[in-house]
Amino acid sequence: MTMLYSRILLVCNGKAGKGELEVQLKDVIPPLLDKCDTMTVHKTKDKGDAERICRDTGHEYDLVIIMGGDGTVHEAVNGLASLNSRPKVAILPGGTCNDFARSLNVPMNMRQAVEIITSSEREKDIDIVKAGDRYFSNFWGAGLVSKTSDNIDVGSKSVLGKLSYYISAFQSIQDPQLLNVTVTANGDTIHEEVVMVLAANGRSIGANPLPVDIDLEDGLLDVYLVKKTGFPLMKEFIMLRSTGEVSDPTNDIIHIKAPEVSIRFEDNERVDMDGELYDQGDQTLVVLKHHMRLIVGEKK
Ligand SMILES: [Mg+2]
Repeated sequence: MTMLYSRILLVCNGKAGKGELEVQLKDVIPPLLDKCDTMTVHKTKDKGDAERICRDTGHEYDLVIIMGGDGTVHEAVNGLASLNSRPKVAILPGGTCNDFARSLNVPMNMRQAVEIITSSEREKDIDIVKAGDRYFSNFWGAGLVSKTSDNIDVGSKSVLGKLSYYISAFQSIQDPQLLNVTVTANGDTIHEEVVMVLAANGRSIGANPLPVDIDLEDGLLDVYLVKKTGFPLMKEFIMLRSTGEVSDPTNDIIHIKAPEVSIRFEDNERVDMDGELYDQGDQTLVVLKHHMRLIVGEKK
């Protein structure tokens, strides 16, 4: 029998629900063992673990499987993205939102997600975005997005799920704070007063699919500058899961597509990358086209 893989690293979130991880691993490990010569299972203990193991040992494997939510994926992407020789990557959705897995059409059912790894018929070279000395795979946001995550306290995040926070925050904010931002892209510079800046590489935020064509292989970021007058529209955009066109005749949401975008705020703003908060707001975002080879699902 020919093996699909020689060495697999499975990184799983050790902080998953009590006993849950063990149950999931019973579904995950046997079919994977059938397809590889050796497999290492690394259970993370603390924040930073997944990133460290991926950075230090990622080059030794031909496949790294990240089993966890967007936080674990964010860490692993940051560990792997800077390696010269990067392994193939697969995601097993073990979190609340699983936004990056959704963007890749990975099934939300764990057994089905394992199946697409063991059959490995579909792989794609996916864009990853460098933001300062960090990387993100799904989104970068400032304004409402970061305020939203700011209000999430870690204890209840796992219980209720991030999604409920995104929803309640979007619904409850009546008078959003204004940010003065300068955005340079494609040789143009725009100054605007906005309530939110969202740069999307992936297609899902807080488990809400964005109702626009966002391509993870085009080498371009989709940046949305949402003016205060565009806020109700943005709510509609993210909340309603609209599959139709969201029209914006008044240009209350400015949409930019670019391979590199520089974003400067007048005041210090916290930014949210893939659901993780960072203090440094001013950044240049650079798309690394086709930077990571990922196992993907079929588009439904
Ligand atoms: Mg793109």
